[in-house]
Amino acid sequence: MTTANQGTRVLVLNSGSSSVKYQLLDMRDASRLAVGLVERIGEETSRLKHSPLATGGATREQNGPIADHEAALKAVAAELAVDGLGLDSPELAAIGHRVVHGGLKFSAPTVITDEVLAEIERLVPVAPLHNPANITGIRTAQALRPDLPQVAVFDTAFHTTMPESAARYAIDIETADAHRIRRYGFHGTSHAYVSRETARLLGKAPEDVNVIVLHLGNGASASAVRGGRCVDTSMGLTPLEGLVMGTRSGDIDPAVTFHLMRVAGMSADDIDVLLNKKSGLVGLCGDNDMREIRRRCDEGDEKAQLAFDIYIHRLKKYIGAYYAVLGKVDAIAFTAGVGENAAPVREAAVAGLEELGLAVDGDLNAVRSDRPRLISPEYARVAVAVVPTDEELEIAQQTYALVSPALNS
Ligand code: ADP
Repeated sequence: MTTANQGTRVLVLNSGSSSVKYQLLDMRDASRLAVGLVERIGEETSRLKHSPLATGGATREQNGPIADHEAALKAVAAELAVDGLGLDSPELAAIGHRVVHGGLKFSAPTVITDEVLAEIERLVPVAPLHNPANITGIRTAQALRPDLPQVAVFDTAFHTTMPESAARYAIDIETADAHRIRRYGFHGTSHAYVSRETARLLGKAPEDVNVIVLHLGNGASASAVRGGRCVDTSMGLTPLEGLVMGTRSGDIDPAVTFHLMRVAGMSADDIDVLLNKKSGLVGLCGDNDMREIRRRCDEGDEKAQLAFDIYIHRLKKYIGAYYAVLGKVDAIAFTAGVGENAAPVREAAVAGLEELGLAVDGDLNAVRSDRPRLISPEYARVAVAVVPTDEELEIAQQTYALVSPALNS
């Protein structure tokens, strides 16, 4: 049974196939009490890294085999307990889970019941890499605290407002519906958070601004947000579509797939690995870290320069496309590892778009900060912003809003 309690803490869990990232937040002031990561679950060389921010203590590390997600979560619970933040604390209000695929059904955070879990399971065929790990994380957390509300926050939810004209592929409609083939989009928690924070930076309500959000991490996606609602996004049925990414190709003629099957004798699985793991920046130049690529570009490395140019070309195409989709744009927001840190990417993506009201101020763009900030010159018609994303905070806030009796009374 799940009952709302008076706690003010939320544990956010992001369970991957071999990792669990977690943060414990106090929702009274959105402060982080602890953050950590368990990696290489199921291997001999598993590692747990735990930073007890509440006490200001040093980061602790455990190395050695952690067999499965259950063992991982138990190890996390033990680390939290060391600092009096254990999972059995009455202060814990809920556990918020990042769930990658919510299909069409879940357009909002949802308290997890048996039916909800069954629906997340039904979506495994469209998210075979992600949903199984998320389900394992949920089951494990439920076993540890069966009395506590567990909330699913879906990566796809923010994109469920896309009109059919943007969400549908132009393929046989019966085939598409039979197999739930459509554009779902991902990184939604980040796009939601960043588009709202961008409005705040402009001193406006989200309903009053149109924003293009460029989430450029190792995975990368763009979205067009009109008045706080997503109207288009670059990832599709899976996170493979759209921008050039660290290891994913992004947009590609689907005929490349059958060509490789027929001409190179590759299997569907081979091509899946090629396009998801061996393409994008790493496929083009051997590196997927933008810092390394920029360093090589500065040394005159032609392969790295070509990879950078292809990355920027695609980015620019999406800025143009979403400008047209929105009609009027108030701001473009760069976020995630590359977007927040790589000034040359921001400069190059916007270069030559002055006719669209877009420009970047060199000095402002060079500033390094973890705060939301404008990097466009004052005269520019469209604001260009750097807005650090915070998916964990967004998951915690959405979770807390759903379970807190104070907020729901
Ligand atoms: P994800 O969550 O998708 O794994 P992140 O949003 O953490 O990715 O982004 C990771 C990427 O950010 C790295 O692969 C690297 O390319 C880029 N990055 C991080 N720091 C910098 C930096 N200082 N300059 C340029 N790129 C950076």
